[in-house]
Amino acid sequence: MKQSKLFTKTIKELPKDEASYNALTLIRAGFIDKAAAGVYSFLPLGWRVLNKIRHIIIEEMEAISGQEISMPALAPRENWQTTGRWDDLDILFKISGSDNKEYALNPTHEEMITPLAKKFIFSYRELPFAVFQIQTKFRNEKRAKAGLLRGREFLMKDLYSFHSSQEDLDSYYELATRAYYNIFKRLGLGDETYLTYASGGSFSKYSHEFQTLTESGEDLIYICDKCKVAVNKEIISEQSVCPQCGNKELRETKAVEVGNIFKLGTRFSAPFSLNFQAADGSKQNVIMGCYGIGLSRILGTVVEVCHDEKGIIWPESIAPFRVHLISLNKNDEAEKIYQSLLDSGVEVLFDDRDLSAGEKFADADLIGCPYRLVVSEKSLAQGGVELKHRSAKESEIIDLDKVISYFSK
Ligand SMILES: [Zn+2]
Repeated sequence: MKQSKLFTKTIKELPKDEASYNALTLIRAGFIDKAAAGVYSFLPLGWRVLNKIRHIIIEEMEAISGQEISMPALAPRENWQTTGRWDDLDILFKISGSDNKEYALNPTHEEMITPLAKKFIFSYRELPFAVFQIQTKFRNEKRAKAGLLRGREFLMKDLYSFHSSQEDLDSYYELATRAYYNIFKRLGLGDETYLTYASGGSFSKYSHEFQTLTESGEDLIYICDKCKVAVNKEIISEQSVCPQCGNKELRETKAVEVGNIFKLGTRFSAPFSLNFQAADGSKQNVIMGCYGIGLSRILGTVVEVCHDEKGIIWPESIAPFRVHLISLNKNDEAEKIYQSLLDSGVEVLFDDRDLSAGEKFADADLIGCPYRLVVSEKSLAQGGVELKHRSAKESEIIDLDKVISYFSK
């Protein structure tokens, strides 16, 4: 992609009502645009990152037999009344249709997936199975001040699993937990993300959140450094020791919840009468689990965790482009390298704009691609191209004929 043709530019005028670091930085760097509090557009750079996050999540969900579907954002009021959450869930967005009916903009999809599953599950032979979607969700937040960490509209993956017994749910829950660890590791958040014990509701003692450590997080968690797990604030009052090893020395820290997994039991299958015929002929409620991850929230979280004073430092797995190629004066060599990188399948952003070196370097640091390649008269005189890793202090010169092989490995 040539930067001169990129739809968005880095900008200096920032929205005055935006306070969060992640949103301000992503707006400055041209990844997102703010439409209203907690409502953002994803521009080409931001959308590329989101799609990489999406790709990793889909791979890991398919690896635990999840089948991808897409359910409506709009739900009839009756669905939410069936579970009692039309009145109980204060963040539910409610809207009226011109048919004089009321609808909810779904913040989660138990009220959709349960009646949908009822059309296909009749016998224990159809269980277990799991479906997931990556879809826009809505929360009618009173305050939305944390940028992408707490949006009114946001992108989420939600997986739902259906089982004929508690034991089967328990073993799938373990699988899903491991898949979540894989996801955060692949996203570059493995070291900062903790499995965190949270309250479980009526069907299990605990549910689990995945919390990423960051000063800008709105949650407080309590880490056990022996087990590398944490307890959330909600249950620390009743559970002041590590639930795994009994350690009393828990460390308080700020974090953002990037995922959660929950054993729903029959909380939703009972009100919707989602039943199956067991092997002994009896009729039973299907046992369910749900597993969420916020994609747009992860994008904001990565920016909070991976940056320096100059801008973002993307983990290689989700960077908008792997290489930022910068040409300091119009030269054919830069154009040639750009073409060769493209031909070799290397994702490259080519700064071909007519700007000063200082402006180009500042933009490259702000945008945060993992590798910066500078082609200048100086580098060519030294026999090649200047290569610098985004997080490194020093650069090195690599030979022109070694550039492609460097990025092809
Ligand atoms: Zn412990």
